Amino acid sequence: MRLANVTDRAHLVVTNSAGSDVLVDIADLSDGRFGPSPTALYDAWDEFRAWADQIEADAETGVAVDRSALAAPSPRPRQVFAVGLNYNEHAAEAGFEPPTDLPPVFTKYVSAFSGPDTEVRIPSGGNVDWEVELVAVMGKQAQHVEEDDAWDYVAGLTVGQDLSERITQLRGPAPQFGLGKSYPGFAPQGPFLVTPDELPDRDNLEIGCRIGDEVVQCGRTNEMIFNVPALVSKISENVTLYPGDVIFTGTPAGVGLGRKPQRFLKSGETLHSWIEGVGEMTQHLV
Ligand code: ZN
Repeated sequence: MRLANVTDRAHLVVTNSAGSDVLVDIADLSDGRFGPSPTALYDAWDEFRAWADQIEADAETGVAVDRSALAAPSPRPRQVFAVGLNYNEHAAEAGFEPPTDLPPVFTKYVSAFSGPDTEVRIPSGGNVDWEVELVAVMGKQAQHVEEDDAWDYVAGLTVGQDLSERITQLRGPAPQFGLGKSYPGFAPQGPFLVTPDELPDRDNLEIGCRIGDEVVQCGRTNEMIFNVPALVSKISENVTLYPGDVIFTGTPAGVGLGRKPQRFLKSGETLHSWIEGVGEMTQHLV
């Protein structure tokens, strides 16, 4: 199943007879039982899934997807987690040993959230870097979850960019990850939430991004040091995860900070990000 968030209303994404993706409003389809906001959907996720699995949405009544109207699939999570150094080659380019027991975990503030296709303003004098990431959205409260059970707690996956202003991030006596990575528009996500059962191999997806035509990151999610179930398990040892919570799972190698010479995004450039089977996003830098 794929879900879209349009103006804070959750929609099913279905394919019509012409082969196009169209949107069906979930609150309308369920006579108000589920939704309308995606937040309400995650709070009743198991019940919603059971209902969604047995209904047949009439795709011919669906409305065309307007990508510019799409918002983050989980727009107001109670908590946002972001994971650092979760791919070996990225840890190396960042100058760190790869984590063995627990990766660095920080947050991106919700005010930085946006939909998949946006214009992102470069802060004055800022070094804005790209980090394409698989994003997991929780579908169930989780505490001390075993790794083997952890996928059952995940509602779905989407594409994310952990855009990072490196000067702020690395300024001061200790790094400022939260502030440096939370300028407006620095957490684009989308286009849809894709449930894990839609993917042939949910633990092994191609992930990448390019600036214009130049591919700058390309990896696979099976290269993660801590995969999605391991992250859910590890994080839930410390904190309670809630439905709708968002986890940015770390970026593969190829960020601008790790290049020689270093390279950052410039006004006028376009950043395209993709994850196999999950979708694509486009950010225009201004
Ligand atoms: Zn990141």
